[in-house]
Amino acid sequence: MTDAVVVGSGPNGLAAALTLARAGLRVEVFEAHEHIGGGLRTEPLFDSEVLHDICAAVHPMAPVSPFMRSLDLEGNGVALLHSPAAYAHPLKGGPAALAWRDLDTTCAELGRDGPGWRRLMLPLMERSADVVELMLSSQRTPPNPRALAVLATRLPAQALRAGGGLRTEAARALLTGVAAHGIGRLPSLASAAVALLLGHLAHTTGWPVPRGGSRAVAAVMAAQIERLGGLIHTGVRVDSLRDLPARRLTLLDVSPRELARIAVLPARYLRMLSRYRYGPGAAKADFLIEGAIPWADPRLGQAATVHLGGAHGTAAELARAETATARGLRAPHPYIIVVDPAAADPARAVRGRRPVWAYAHVPHGDTRDPLPMIRAALENHAPGFTDTVIAERGVSAARLGVYNPNYVGGDIASGAMTLWQTLARPVPRWNPYRTPLPGTWLCSSATPPGPSVHGMCGYHAARAALATWPEAARSTPARLGGGGRPLER
Ligand SMILES: Cc1cc2nc3c(=O)[nH]c(=O)nc-3n(C[C@H](O)[C@H](O)[C@H](O)COP(=O)(O)OP(=O)(O)OC[C@H]3O[C@@H](n4cnc5c(N)ncnc54)[C@H](O)[C@@H]3O)c2cc1C
Repeated sequence: MTDAVVVGSGPNGLAAALTLARAGLRVEVFEAHEHIGGGLRTEPLFDSEVLHDICAAVHPMAPVSPFMRSLDLEGNGVALLHSPAAYAHPLKGGPAALAWRDLDTTCAELGRDGPGWRRLMLPLMERSADVVELMLSSQRTPPNPRALAVLATRLPAQALRAGGGLRTEAARALLTGVAAHGIGRLPSLASAAVALLLGHLAHTTGWPVPRGGSRAVAAVMAAQIERLGGLIHTGVRVDSLRDLPARRLTLLDVSPRELARIAVLPARYLRMLSRYRYGPGAAKADFLIEGAIPWADPRLGQAATVHLGGAHGTAAELARAETATARGLRAPHPYIIVVDPAAADPARAVRGRRPVWAYAHVPHGDTRDPLPMIRAALENHAPGFTDTVIAERGVSAARLGVYNPNYVGGDIASGAMTLWQTLARPVPRWNPYRTPLPGTWLCSSATPPGPSVHGMCGYHAARAALATWPEAARSTPARLGGGGRPLER
């Protein structure tokens, strides 16, 4: 019998498996896809040379998440590479706004809003460790008072007005583009928290891209699990927990919907799970292009991440588009994140050809091919972009949900990012990771602290499970809901 089984090998599943393996448990991971990694896959999509990140590409959490730091990515050969600007935002008919790694350069370029940007970011930068600790916590420990103090004086302005406290269109749009990573109504408390977290990290540890693509991060985690004796099985979609081998602990890197599908749950918990809300979808386009993106403002080529939205790119347009999308409406010019990994890692461009990905926020379950919409948005700010495209593909939000069952209806956050659901993911319980099934824990981004590649959902879930380990070790597999039958492939 194995000690623990983990279902799903996304960053949180691998983080859970590694945390358990580090504690000395025998661990087996079962992954539906033929490759490990969940949101960390990188593949050659159009030719054998250029690698494309299928989901995550940019990793602001890698240098700051306690779990990610424990991997020692750099020491294990995965350099975290930076573009000179972390992110940028084009405005139609004017110069683009850029968030440089260097705060002074950013403030100098923001002109009238330079002092306001500094007043917003500098205290967060000085309290960064506290802010990160609070935001990546299980949300069940007493909040760090230093983080609370710095956030409490900044959140209300951002939550009341997109780009609140800033006056120029460039600065307001720049900040609102970060807030929109929260995928939901704008402005809101949840999106404001995202803006402050990601916004200040741009000027501290940055928004790096792992050399060789996101799969390199998954490979480091897998190697460490295997070194500790863990086993990883791929190509195995778990349809019932009863099919899993005998074990004492079960950690599930799955969505609440998948949990309800594969487990026999008590009616009360099932009712609570059925109230869990999923958010808007992401519809993604992958491009293989010749040369660089022909941005109207060439400085945009200095940023690996560029935010687009609205016809002109203003904060008000972004807020309208995000709010409409959250209501299930198709915004004419939705918010789009464009990532050009070669801006940080030039080796990603092979013989002049480079990967570019972009995803648009669209209504939940949207079935439209996003290619025409994303191409048009890029053409708007980078005239001639279409002529650079050698190959392309579009993946609708509905198809993204089929590709990975964690992204229900294309919701890449695995659950709407409202303030309530940030705290009560997936159900309002003191221990959000524990399920009513003995020894069975949820560890996906549908638990606190939520989406993004930080591994902290998996880490917290594994820690919670380990706290019961002596009890789990005494119990029989049958009591823990383990079927004990060999898994059929
Ligand atoms: C297009 C896109 C772009 C993104 N960009 C970024 C980015 O740049 N930076 C960032 O930080 N985050 C980004 N994200 C979000 C990030 O990828 C996720 O927040 C993160 O991967 C969630 O990790 P997870 O382990 O909870 O789930 P996932 O990474 O989704 O992994 C879940 C795994 O479980 C497997 N699984 C599910 N059910 C079963 C089952 N029944 N049996 C077996 N296996 C199962 C799935 O196949 C999958 O491999 C992006 C996401 C998408 C889709």
